[in-house]
Amino acid sequence: MKPQLIVIDDEADLGSLVCDVAEQSGFDVSQYTSARHFMQQYDNCADVIVLDLMMPDIDGIEVIRFLSQQQCTAQIILMSGFDSSVLHSAQKLAGERGLSFAGSLTKPFRLPQLMELLDSLEIKTRSHSPRTIIDPPSANELKLAIENDELTVFFQPKVSLNGDQKAAAEALVRWQHPDHGLLTPDYFIDTAEQNDLIDSLTWVVLRQVMSQCSQWHDQGLGVQVAVNMSAHTLKELNLPEQIGNMLQQYALDPSHLVLEVTETALMEELIKSLDILTRLRMRGIRLSIDDFGTGYSSLIQLYRAPFSEIKIDRSFVSEMDNDREAATIVQTIIDLGKNLNMKTVAEGVETEACKEKLKTLGCEQAQGYLFARPMPAGEFFKWYQKYLGL
Ligand code: C2E
Ligand code: CA
Ligand code: CA
Repeated sequence: MKPQLIVIDDEADLGSLVCDVAEQSGFDVSQYTSARHFMQQYDNCADVIVLDLMMPDIDGIEVIRFLSQQQCTAQIILMSGFDSSVLHSAQKLAGERGLSFAGSLTKPFRLPQLMELLDSLEIKTRSHSPRTIIDPPSANELKLAIENDELTVFFQPKVSLNGDQKAAAEALVRWQHPDHGLLTPDYFIDTAEQNDLIDSLTWVVLRQVMSQCSQWHDQGLGVQVAVNMSAHTLKELNLPEQIGNMLQQYALDPSHLVLEVTETALMEELIKSLDILTRLRMRGIRLSIDDFGTGYSSLIQLYRAPFSEIKIDRSFVSEMDNDREAATIVQTIIDLGKNLNMKTVAEGVETEACKEKLKTLGCEQAQGYLFARPMPAGEFFKWYQKYLGL
């Protein structure tokens, strides 16, 4: 069965043109010149929706809201005659509303551009069962999972771009669920945060990480591991001592531990977190500011907090190849890092071109699917040995 594509554009001529190109690329197409008609007839079966933002009756933003309410799983392509900043905002909105954004076209665009975009789409052949959505766990289910040791840590390599041969990783928690299989954190972190379980989750992760790290040391691979810290945990006043004790217990040098804190987490109760962060830093533990560029931290806050590294958010990194504004933001953050004497790390690196660009700009470390996906500890060890040619 051919994949289905829907075009919604009040300009009928342009719409038919898109349809023609899509048909040549192997799609079954339908065309709407009115968003209202589209919404009345929508059956949630499309694989791709090409949507014009500016339409007279109902505009593209309203259609985005509608599609999100329908839990639409189609890939969305946005078209607009506005400048790219409008497309950016609409794209962000689509992502925040849980839609899958596949690309955008600024009118007027050339046909090869459209063809290229259509050809690049990864259409998951629908078995015509809508995506199975499992409800988030209850607090009690998650609590039991923690007690029953069902949480496990995966490791994603962070590779160095400046030629040094140091091994590093980010620890990412997973839930090995007896019925649902391996679950990623977006399924259960919110439940943990909202039910006072995030601290115990963090301690489970920290213990697994330190135990693993010390095993790797014994096997001759010194790996620096980064752990994600929630805002809540950062308010525990005795956190520095507790972490310090655990490091001692596993005979680990503090510089092998990096704590990643998101910009947004930092902003809540800044004074209290600053106290704790400073004491962690005094013990030699490295601190990284995560998802940088998405929050609201000012230069002054960045200067005051004792961070050792900046982690550039993947929304900018992954767009660097085809978006000049994203590339400029990445460059600015790298320069900022250099000037403040902080290491810069790029996450979400998916292409060779992106990696090369980051290297040229002077970014020190990179992480992303180009190198490897998060994996269990055993695989990670083999991966790094091979990568470093050991
Ligand atoms: P994060 O800290 O931004 O972690 C990076 C996420 O990006 C991971 O998703 C990783 O699998 C994904 N990723 C890595 N490379 C690429 C790439 O090239 N392309 C794309 N598209 N994605 C990439 P994951 O494992 O699902 O984790 C999601 C989030 O859950 C993390 O975002 C972090 O905020 C949170 N999280 C994970 N583990 C823990 C934990 O132990 N404690 C806490 N508090 N939060 C955690
Ligand atoms: Ca992180
Ligand atoms: Ca991140």
